[in-house]
Amino acid sequence: MTDDKKSQLDDVQQLLLERISKNDTTGFKQLLGQLKSVNFVDDSGMSLLAHASFKGNAEAVQILLDMGADINLNQHGADYTPLHFAALSGNVHVCRLLLDAGINPNSINSVSRTASQMAAFVGNHACVETINNYVTQSSLEYYTQVHGQQTEPHIPPTLLKPFHTFVTEINLHPVRISLNAQVLGLLKILPNLRKTLALMCEKEMQKSHDVNELLAFKYHYQGWIIAELIRCEEQFKVQHKEESTKNDYIEVFVKRVLKENKLGQLDYVEFTLRECAREFPFRDCTIFRQIATQLGAKDAPPALIVLRNAINGLRGFVDESSYCSTCGQEKPDKKCSKCKAVQYCDRECQRLHWFMHKKSCPRLLAASQAGAAATAAGQQVQSKGPIDTNELREELAKLSA
Ligand SMILES: [Zn+2]
Ligand SMILES: [Zn+2]
Repeated sequence: MTDDKKSQLDDVQQLLLERISKNDTTGFKQLLGQLKSVNFVDDSGMSLLAHASFKGNAEAVQILLDMGADINLNQHGADYTPLHFAALSGNVHVCRLLLDAGINPNSINSVSRTASQMAAFVGNHACVETINNYVTQSSLEYYTQVHGQQTEPHIPPTLLKPFHTFVTEINLHPVRISLNAQVLGLLKILPNLRKTLALMCEKEMQKSHDVNELLAFKYHYQGWIIAELIRCEEQFKVQHKEESTKNDYIEVFVKRVLKENKLGQLDYVEFTLRECAREFPFRDCTIFRQIATQLGAKDAPPALIVLRNAINGLRGFVDESSYCSTCGQEKPDKKCSKCKAVQYCDRECQRLHWFMHKKSCPRLLAASQAGAAATAAGQQVQSKGPIDTNELREELAKLSA
């Protein structure tokens, strides 16, 4: 139901919009009981869901979707979908919720831009990647069904959701891929997971139209890491001469990945990812040629960066310190309490990295103290973020005010 008497929002609707604009989620929730329908628009034609998306308020968006918010309700002249607003907010979680709810990522706004293009425009790379890497859960159902000679499906139907989460992950760090496989309960089906990713890669390349080379390569890459994980498990079993019931090999694998040489380079990652690129079964395509050229260049960047950029696109200026030192996750919450120079998602990531970080921690501490002294002495700290981002936000804020 749409309230089309535009300038006549009732008090509850007004107040709801106000609380959302202040990100007052608690106050917002208190009012919901008095609301007749969540599907109304403000005087500019923007829905409540669009407002919550623009504020990057994942909790409110989830509640609204649960209450039956219409993802297509939009009387906003500029044709922004809630996903456009979420993309501008920079909140990956909100983008995910809307995509899971079935929003069309290809909708364009009045200036012919998709949500992903708007996110790219304001530098919200994680949103760009989330939208571009997205495939629906229902498109993966095929792999949970029995086909042809199979006696059982590759992926048990009960694991469809975790499998979907695994496949749509944008963080391609080998540590994140292996930890995700563990957290999502996929370790018990590693060989099938690998097989399925190979099938998905093949299927993507053999489409009659809309071939997505990037997704094909991504599946190949994810499958490659899973294969390495399987190899690690097999070696671990031989060494420990027992049927390993615990998942200790994950830790062995993570440490193999994170082990730096004297120059601080990740030898194992470099070796295996170059091999991964070489073994991509489809040579006659742009992404393969692009990767081969870059890896073959003199002073080539690390293979992890080359492959990540090939799949997800260039991020432009990348501040490595804003990533987890263990798994490459963006904007992690925690810092090493001693040097405060490296960041981690959580205690587990910190624990896994300590065997390497303990060597550099004292040096980083000394450097940060020297840096602090220099800043105090009057050096300017560079501010980040392009100016047009703010301008655009203000512009949109005016539109939606
Ligand atoms: Zn991490
Ligand atoms: Zn430290």
